[in-house]
Amino acid sequence: MSSCGNNQIDTIKTETKILPIDSVTKKDSIVEIKKEIYTIDSTKKYIYLTFDDGPQNGTLACYEICKELNVKGTFFMISVQMYDKWGKNLAAKVKTGYPTTLLANHSHTHAFRNQFNKFYHQPNEAFLDFKRANDSLKADYKMARLPGNNGWATKRGITSSKFVRNVITKLDSAGYDVLGWDIEWHFSYDGKSKPVESTQSIIQQIKYALQYNSYSKNHVVLLMHDRMFKDKSDADSLRFVIQELKKNNNYVFETLDHYPNIKLNRSN
Ligand SMILES: [Zn+2]
Repeated sequence: MSSCGNNQIDTIKTETKILPIDSVTKKDSIVEIKKEIYTIDSTKKYIYLTFDDGPQNGTLACYEICKELNVKGTFFMISVQMYDKWGKNLAAKVKTGYPTTLLANHSHTHAFRNQFNKFYHQPNEAFLDFKRANDSLKADYKMARLPGNNGWATKRGITSSKFVRNVITKLDSAGYDVLGWDIEWHFSYDGKSKPVESTQSIIQQIKYALQYNSYSKNHVVLLMHDRMFKDKSDADSLRFVIQELKKNNNYVFETLDHYPNIKLNRSN
């Protein structure tokens, strides 16, 4: 199983170098060689930490925890929140934090500011909202997460509710990967956005999903929101979860550009 796409990764042209046979194609006597070969280790289990809705209070804490503990994380950002210098700087920090942190697209307006019914019933406008976000964020890949709804569009096809089907189909046709999640660490709806489940509960859910139940076998995507970790005690909870999981040498923390069976098209 490999996430190395067929034609998405930049190619360099040379007549001399030799790479593994599956990475080389002959064309008019020029040999095209893929620059990056990434292979998923089938003996390992992969954890994808994902943080939604930044840039916002809490984004910096999540970014710093990834750096401090040397684990990778993917940040799905809302580009309308980059209206000021603070937001722009946070997004830029996450982007330049690669390969530890990956910046990806969570739409420009977050479904016209949570008007999900309107958003998912206007596929053209919704698509333009994602396109605008990709441009503003300067995201490297056409990779998105739907606001307020779990859905997938990869080389495996589309898995989604009927509610979002028109929008996700449009994104898929335009070459986007849409990445959902297996487990959510929920936040409280009391205005404080605190983590709901205990650290032990989240650790157990991750282990269970890796064992029995995830969208891709041996790969688990955890959804969190940046704002859950704006307070120090909550940031410490995230730290604890990661440290506990790191004790298992079989677990690998990855960013979603290495998720199996994705198209991984560059933004242009
Ligand atoms: Zn969101």
